[in-house]
Amino acid sequence: MPSDTLNQFLNDNLNELKEQGLYNEIDVVEGANGPRIQIDGRDLVNLSSNNYLGLATDERLKEVAKDAVDSHGVGAGAVRTINGTLDLHVQLENKIAEFKGTEAAIAYQSGFNCNMAAISAVMDKNDAILSDALNHASIIDGCRLSKAKIIPFEHSDMDDLRQKAKEAKESGQYNKIMIITDGVFSMDGDVAKLPEIVEIAKEFDLITYVDDAHGSGVLGKGAGTVKHFGLQNEIDFQMGTLSKAIGVVGGYVAGKQNLIDWLKVRSRPFLFSTSLTPADVSATTKAIDLLMESTELQDRMWENGDYLKKGLKELGFDIGNSETPITPCIIGDEKTTQQFSKRLNEEGVYAKSIVFPTVPKGTGRVRNMPTAAHTKEMLDEALTIYEKVGKEMNII
Ligand SMILES: *Cc1c(COP(=O)(O)O)cnc(C)c1O
Repeated sequence: MPSDTLNQFLNDNLNELKEQGLYNEIDVVEGANGPRIQIDGRDLVNLSSNNYLGLATDERLKEVAKDAVDSHGVGAGAVRTINGTLDLHVQLENKIAEFKGTEAAIAYQSGFNCNMAAISAVMDKNDAILSDALNHASIIDGCRLSKAKIIPFEHSDMDDLRQKAKEAKESGQYNKIMIITDGVFSMDGDVAKLPEIVEIAKEFDLITYVDDAHGSGVLGKGAGTVKHFGLQNEIDFQMGTLSKAIGVVGGYVAGKQNLIDWLKVRSRPFLFSTSLTPADVSATTKAIDLLMESTELQDRMWENGDYLKKGLKELGFDIGNSETPITPCIIGDEKTTQQFSKRLNEEGVYAKSIVFPTVPKGTGRVRNMPTAAHTKEMLDEALTIYEKVGKEMNII
């Protein structure tokens, strides 16, 4: 018999969300998630995907994925530690290590999964984790799962980090202390101050963990934020996703051989959840090959990012202080931000609003993700619509 308690809980909470205007209706994309998308039969310029390099629909990746289905089937058949480690997985991990400039790498089913897996494999209740206040939800959940003491520090505030690292170290309460940060912060597009973080880590003997979901494929000639700063030998965990710039699905940690050996015997999603499919793994390996061969796609993405930023700025929008192609258009008030996004959509631009609690109150924004797959015409079309809606709503 269905539970009345559950029923009441669900209905009460769903109704409350709907009354507050916080219930998220999910849009369905009809067809591929490319630079233009179809939603409800309408054609829109897509500025909301994380498909930075356009690889999600790349013909070369589609080709190798189909070949892998023919040669290896559609499923890996088991978890990695039973017999779900196919030759394709090993090739991928070797490729990631080469790409990242580390001794070894381990692949997971997703970036989220990877943060669940890797943090708690190393940290426990006798440890502490210094965590940037704007870290991604999967980092926060991964830290919680470890049961370590979580010590947040002000976003990218190196004085605060040093102070808290010093206190943690001098308290003598913790066996191990980790500093964990996004490489690129996805809401503002700013880059973590890794050289200073490494200095502080050395001073207080901290383990370093960088989640480079938005930096890989974007910074450091594609290899990410750590490579961008030349710190491959200084950062213990280079974590990343295979779902954003790489265009497919999956996550990984790159680091020293002993770290990867440990994660292979102690990280639970690796041990207890079936491994990535042959098609995903082959497409991912091909994507990394393409990134290592040429910077053509990155160059085009940066060019498009700069073009969109310049256009929005010239129109008079506040685009914040992004250091990457992530282009927030900061509106401020939450309701106005949502209305702005809705009007853009009606006019032909798909750019999602992001408001409190994802970003601080009063800093609501529409976030734009220009990619290598956009053409100048698409960006011009988007800018024309931005101008029209911005003027109509008295934002510019
Ligand atoms: C997207 C994201 C993840 C999760 O990656 P998935 O592969 O999509 O699960 C983890 N960390 C950060 C910082 C992200 O932006």
